[in-house]
Amino acid sequence: MSAGGSARASSPSPEIVIVGGGYGGVTAAKLLDKDFDVTLIERKEAFFHNIGALRGTVDEEFLRELFIPYDNLLSRGRVVRGVVAKVAPYEVILESGERIGYDYLVLATGSSYPFPAKTPFDETAPSIETISWTGRQIREAEGVLLFGGGPVGIELAGEIKSRYPEKGVALVHSHSTLMGGWFKPELGAKLLDKLQKKGVRVIFEEAVMPEDETDPETTFVTNKGTTIEASLLRPHPLSGVMGFICFGVKPNSDYLKGGGFVPLDEQSRVRVDPYLRIEGHNNLFAIGDITNVEEPKTAYLAQKHAEIVARNIKALSQGNKAKLRTYRPSENPPMVVPVGPDDGVTQFPIAGGLVVGKRTTRRLKGRDLMVERYRKILGAT
Ligand SMILES: Cc1cc2nc3c(=O)[nH]c(=O)nc-3n(C[C@H](O)[C@H](O)[C@H](O)COP(=O)(O)OP(=O)(O)OC[C@H]3O[C@@H](n4cnc5c(N)ncnc54)[C@H](O)[C@@H]3O)c2cc1C
Repeated sequence: MSAGGSARASSPSPEIVIVGGGYGGVTAAKLLDKDFDVTLIERKEAFFHNIGALRGTVDEEFLRELFIPYDNLLSRGRVVRGVVAKVAPYEVILESGERIGYDYLVLATGSSYPFPAKTPFDETAPSIETISWTGRQIREAEGVLLFGGGPVGIELAGEIKSRYPEKGVALVHSHSTLMGGWFKPELGAKLLDKLQKKGVRVIFEEAVMPEDETDPETTFVTNKGTTIEASLLRPHPLSGVMGFICFGVKPNSDYLKGGGFVPLDEQSRVRVDPYLRIEGHNNLFAIGDITNVEEPKTAYLAQKHAEIVARNIKALSQGNKAKLRTYRPSENPPMVVPVGPDDGVTQFPIAGGLVVGKRTTRRLKGRDLMVERYRKILGAT
């Protein structure tokens, strides 16, 4: 493993370091493993298949399947457990002080979502414990309020209603339609219809925030002056209503701040060029949720980025710049939104954004939230 010094792009097997073993990082690592010396650096004990996280809150057995060991991911390369604290020319520095050198670097540190869509814990046991605890709170709650009418709020409403059909569930959204700008209005309209048929109350054009997120007896006040007694992540002691924040994706880029070696935009996302190279660098790439590519942030697209970057690293390592591929965001990005295991709506990236319903959504995602697929990718038995 090279540490510092100049790039060894012409050596028989350049060193590739990938930071972040989420959907994009795992895909890039697998694609490059055959031809290069790959080191994947990941802070978590196991891959967290967060696409299944919301069903995991109401199904503990399913939850356990979502944490997949990295042991069988690579055949040649290695997975290093650690937190990258700094990126420097030709080396990354871990919080432990360890330095790992690279010829090519791929940043894939993704994003954070409000719990339970993603978990803040690096260890598996506290993640399972906390999500299960939240699931028990849902079971006990008189009602559930979900703030945010994007895919996370809609999916969580669908999962809770499918598991507990009698429970009152309301979705509060600050806009006048579900899903929003990237997608066909038909996608949001069909999802609304399905949620309402399941008994979810959908409230549009009300923006709410808790008055004090840390206070278990907090109240929420909407922009229309309505006061709601609910607690975040546990039932309110008086009303029995619990609330979940279902919006607010935040790029995991704190370790890149200061120094200016990796340029960030005003939303703290890594600035990339059309080849998904980090602006100002020839041998640094970024993929997935952390990038400033203007498109919805999805695992599917993080994997598409990984495919382009793997090809581009191969081209550069062969000194063949003519083979570099650019990445072009789709005008009609795909989106699969289950409403519980058996229903939902999907937008395809074909035919100007074809929108289809429950059978396809169930087959593509709703049935098992793709857990089997990702267990296979990671070589888990
Ligand atoms: C509930 C839910 C359902 C979703 N469903 C879908 C879906 O059906 N289809 C779809 O395409 N997308 C879906 N998404 C979106 C998808 O999860 C994200 O777009 C995806 O996680 C992005 O992948 P990524 O590889 O960029 O980053 P991430 O998956 O966020 O992975 C980043 C990794 O980097 C690690 N990391 C971060 N910082 C460091 C550091 N400093 N050092 C070392 N490691 C670090 C993290 O621990 C993490 O493992 C869903 C999201 C949620 C929340």
